[in-house]
Amino acid sequence: MLEQVAALLVDLDGVLYVEDEPITGASQAVERLRAGGLALRFVTNTTARSRDRTLAKLARLGLGVAPEELLTPAALAVRHCLDSGHERVALIMNDEVKHDFAELEEADGPVDAVIVGDLGPAFGYDVLNRAFRLVMEGAELIALQKNRYWMRADGLSLDVGPFVAAIEFATGRDAYVVGKPSRAFFAEALAGLRVGAEAAAMVGDDIESDIGGALRAGLAAILVRTGKYREDRLRDSGIEPTCVVDSIADVPALFGRT
Ligand SMILES: [Mg+2]
Repeated sequence: MLEQVAALLVDLDGVLYVEDEPITGASQAVERLRAGGLALRFVTNTTARSRDRTLAKLARLGLGVAPEELLTPAALAVRHCLDSGHERVALIMNDEVKHDFAELEEADGPVDAVIVGDLGPAFGYDVLNRAFRLVMEGAELIALQKNRYWMRADGLSLDVGPFVAAIEFATGRDAYVVGKPSRAFFAEALAGLRVGAEAAAMVGDDIESDIGGALRAGLAAILVRTGKYREDRLRDSGIEPTCVVDSIADVPALFGRT
């Protein structure tokens, strides 16, 4: 199934690095894949930092990624709002990430949409209660992503999903989820690469968002045993990756690029 792959979607957190520590062999693997002629897109659900800071971090870790090669949920969320006629929005995310939403008007009062990204330790009762009230007043709930947890340097940690779920539970409304595993997110990446799903594979450490999402969108899916990977999560998920490798360092060999 990997023979026809001409393009790779590569997750960032847990695949290329864990916080500020690069995964061993990551930059060499990316270079080999590039040299081997595979088209690359770096796709992340991370909404704790802006696009520019993510690009700067990749460069600092020796991973040269061009701006057009990076896909984050923010741009898709902005487009969804513009398409839906949402102008005034509440932005539940740290101030830096708000730069990616400059096309929308952030407002305190009644809003058309509540957009939830990562607030980390600043998620709390007041923040969630404000989002709850705005959604009850009619705003659309938009989640930049809904991951359950991620791997921090000090251990597994709550991601955005549990907080989105709290607002969904209280309001009885489902969020519009922008990032992986949404089909639209994969479709956007494939459109940028100009390939069909059958010619692309996803490399990720999240069995649900990366692997489950990619398989549902028709891509091959390569699970790495780094970052948040847990053998029991793989077993319990019922999801069958196209293949499982120890790390990104093993990916070039899958395509005969060694
Ligand atoms: Mg990841």
